Amino acid sequence: MELNIGQIRRDFPILTQKVFGKPLIYLDNAATTQKPLSVIRKIEDIYSTINANVHRGIHHLSQLATESHEEARKTVQRYINAASPGEIIFTSGTTDSINLVAHSFCRSQCKPGDEIIITTMEHHSNIVPWQIQRDISGIEIKVAPLRENGEICLEDVEELISSKTRLIAIAHVSNVLGTINPVAGIIQLAHDYNIPVLVDAAQSIQHLPVDVQALDCDFLAFSAHKMYGPTGVGVLYGKERLLEKMPPYRAGGEMIAHVSFEKTTFNELPYKFEAGTPDYVGSAALGKAIRYIENLGLDKIHRYEDRLLQYATDRLLQIEGIQIIGTSPHKSSVISFLVGGIHPYDMGMLLDQLGIALRTGHHCAQPLMDALGIEGTLRASFAFYNTEEEIDILVEGIGKVVKMF
Ligand code: PMP
Repeated sequence: MELNIGQIRRDFPILTQKVFGKPLIYLDNAATTQKPLSVIRKIEDIYSTINANVHRGIHHLSQLATESHEEARKTVQRYINAASPGEIIFTSGTTDSINLVAHSFCRSQCKPGDEIIITTMEHHSNIVPWQIQRDISGIEIKVAPLRENGEICLEDVEELISSKTRLIAIAHVSNVLGTINPVAGIIQLAHDYNIPVLVDAAQSIQHLPVDVQALDCDFLAFSAHKMYGPTGVGVLYGKERLLEKMPPYRAGGEMIAHVSFEKTTFNELPYKFEAGTPDYVGSAALGKAIRYIENLGLDKIHRYEDRLLQYATDRLLQIEGIQIIGTSPHKSSVISFLVGGIHPYDMGMLLDQLGIALRTGHHCAQPLMDALGIEGTLRASFAFYNTEEEIDILVEGIGKVVKMF
């Protein structure tokens, strides 16, 4: 049986809203997804029943809150098929996860002149942390180029590999182009040279099955809020062997084994990297979001979203003067586009008046915009609660805006 979209939509209260008197058409899912009632209720439930700080008290509520938090870690472990819960580090999101690796990996594994490879299509959060490390640790950053249709090729990555390469950090799916990068091939290639790979899964974790052991990636970063979960919580997966070699990123409570003024020893994994009170409400709500996705089935989600992508691509291409940015045959449900000479911001504002929420701008990927020779795009990004009817209204809306110009 395929997904029952009508029923699914009823799980998302926000979708019944009107914006400027028009039914909300939410097509900004790559920025953040909406939340099902089960996730919203989980947050309320924790604050109403078991709220207490975790890992600290022997009292009843603290035990329950700790169990809930650690259960969520196991849910994440199962979802990405990590080998152990110790490899799941709760962070505040993808950005925080990448910063953790950049800081801790470079500090412990890199010397001046060593190289990190990224790609042209990276989000700022997979560029700027490395630039900061360039200033602190003296590393160099090499950038794999973009091919014509918005793809990264293995040969181009291989050409950048040298005896000084210490890590490759790459997005699984581009938040602008929608391209699904050949990460499995890149990981294999990198491992041939003994180089670990960090996968930024912010845009893949909610659309595609991600099995860290099958992929054999060394680090994986993602955010709960892009996968129907709450804001403010995310995950860094790391292979135990690598995490053990890395020093703590932040310091304070939770991450210590023993503290004296002379010397501090650090906690075991994953707590070594989780300083301070963790977002134990967010982690439990993320667990709920994962169960929501699992109940629908990622295979069904992928099939349905792929159909939306094809439908939207075909319908958009019927608009005169439209240019779709990113035309790889391997795409997730993200479409960036420009229409004639109309500024994306103007188009986005006018579509907003019609109740249609799209993203406009550089999408935190300014170097990609520079490589494409554009300032920004409009971006429609779809989730499993979107429909072909909504895409029809989008296309109609674009037609109306074009007529106004
Ligand atoms: N990487 C990619 C590919 C993204 O799309 C995003 C969010 N737009 C991020 C990283 C950063 O995610 P967050 O803001 O949740 O940390």
